[in-house]
Amino acid sequence: MTRNTPIDNKKKQALSQALTNAVGFLSSMVQIREFQELIRRTYFGKDKRRGIAGTYQWFVEEVGELARAMRKNDRAALEEEFADCLAWLVSLATLHGIDMAMVAEKYRAGCPKCGVSECQCEDSGLR
Ligand SMILES: [Zn+2]
Repeated sequence: MTRNTPIDNKKKQALSQALTNAVGFLSSMVQIREFQELIRRTYFGKDKRRGIAGTYQWFVEEVGELARAMRKNDRAALEEEFADCLAWLVSLATLHGIDMAMVAEKYRAGCPKCGVSECQCEDSGLR
């Protein structure tokens, strides 16, 4: 028979923090999944008819519009173009059968290369 050992406060705090982090991550996964599902419900028919190549073309066009908004430093246009780029990116992922919530897990622990949440990699200009 095993004896219950009291969990010390440090362990309790660590467990509680790990649980809080896990719940936070799961809730952000749910939000990403809900957003992808919303975009799928809204546009999947059109996206499917347009196809991957046509949808990619629209996505790139939106990225161009984002570049213009950045050049003008126009806050309202920036917000609109970030929203559009995100929606088109998610549409493309759906057409490829990619679950954005699942792929976002790559960054769960921070930088996938150095594993730190403020990247400590040599600055190469790349992620
Ligand atoms: Zn890094």
